[in-house]
Amino acid sequence: MRLSFYGAVEDVTGSCFLLETAGGKLLIDCGMHQGERMCSTKNLEPFGFDATHVDAVVVTHAHFDHTGRLPNLMKDGYTGKIFMTPPTKGLVQIILEDSVHVMAENAKKCGDPVPYGIDELHAMLENVVTVPYHHVIKPFSGVSVEFFDAGHILGSSFIRVVVDETGESKTFIFSGDIGNDDVPILPDTEDRPFADIVLCEATYGKADHEPAETREGKLAEFVKKIIGRGGTVLIPAFSVERTQEILFALDQLLQRGEIPPIPMYLDSPLAIKATELYRHFSDHLSFEHPASPGKDGDWFRFPSLTETPTGTMSKMINEDRSPKIIIAGNGMMTGGRIMHHLARYISDVKTGILIVGYQARHTMGKMIQDGATEVSIHGDKFQVRATVEQIHAFSAHGDQKKLTRFVQGVGALPSTVFLVHGEQETKEIFATHLRTTLNVNVQIPHITQTYEL
Ligand SMILES: [Zn+2]
Repeated sequence: MRLSFYGAVEDVTGSCFLLETAGGKLLIDCGMHQGERMCSTKNLEPFGFDATHVDAVVVTHAHFDHTGRLPNLMKDGYTGKIFMTPPTKGLVQIILEDSVHVMAENAKKCGDPVPYGIDELHAMLENVVTVPYHHVIKPFSGVSVEFFDAGHILGSSFIRVVVDETGESKTFIFSGDIGNDDVPILPDTEDRPFADIVLCEATYGKADHEPAETREGKLAEFVKKIIGRGGTVLIPAFSVERTQEILFALDQLLQRGEIPPIPMYLDSPLAIKATELYRHFSDHLSFEHPASPGKDGDWFRFPSLTETPTGTMSKMINEDRSPKIIIAGNGMMTGGRIMHHLARYISDVKTGILIVGYQARHTMGKMIQDGATEVSIHGDKFQVRATVEQIHAFSAHGDQKKLTRFVQGVGALPSTVFLVHGEQETKEIFATHLRTTLNVNVQIPHITQTYEL
């Protein structure tokens, strides 16, 4: 059997791995590269393998960097099934529908072809087959697949693939993204069962986070500081998971009277739709005691919150001159409605910008995180006078401690660990840490590298 790496090896995004067995070829994830310069042509390059020869596709979770090129795979001739959990299907639909518009705009600006349109996206969704956690499926002869809860976002999974060939059997684990510990709205990552080969993400492999229980206190402190001086709090939030965690935290803080009921806006059509899906699949969520949804029975809604799905409603936020909180996409400040709010508020010393997620290289979010004093928004220059702070405890990714525990798993150690999803330096630090603490064989693959196993 052979394992090849077609993405998420030289940076964090673009997850795509191909496992070739005697019975057929299994593709694990098919994601877009993200966070790079807008006019990067990386996503227009060919896959590096023949899509018509792939027999089945499994998807770890809905994030765009794990799913964004699925329609391209079908454009290139793939005709088989695409397996994922039921909430993942719901999220894939809204995330990719949203991205079709963004990609069309970007392609126009860059003079590039559009990767795919809405019809091609819907054609791809026809091939999706949903599989609940722990239902073992056999996509083709000699291969069985099982989804385990990764605790990263709604419906997220790590995937066990067992390959049986004549005289040989091997178990693989594909981590997808592994969630943070003790996230209030999600179940914890399931224990990783035995595997010979583990592909593990390493996004935050070089350090440990602040514990998740510090997040509400830090959020309350920041909000009180900014609104106390009459400012506006901008939270550039990732629409899936981070937004729901922020809404949950704000709801809890309001119920406990730890922040005042100032106006709050959820200004992202995608985040509003994603929050609806979180409600719909609430049996996949986990809210620990003593948290309560409050009188309205809703974990993500409260009287001072206004959702602004339309452009007109979004513009009306400008009329609100009072201290307030605006949660708007996108999380890395590379586009979306957050840009209008940044243009309006970033040069005001009273403003607070709260960073609650990973900022990739070359993004405006990364520049602001690194202390840029001037940024360019929609072609105009703005001085950064706002207070910028970050709360790592909101991370949706496991830290070094958590990822080490995942690699260790239950029972015997894996014979080989491949590190993916991470900047090179991070992967090297994490690899050294794993070799020292667990004494395992760790490999850092290169793009298009193939291993005979
Ligand atoms: Zn993810």
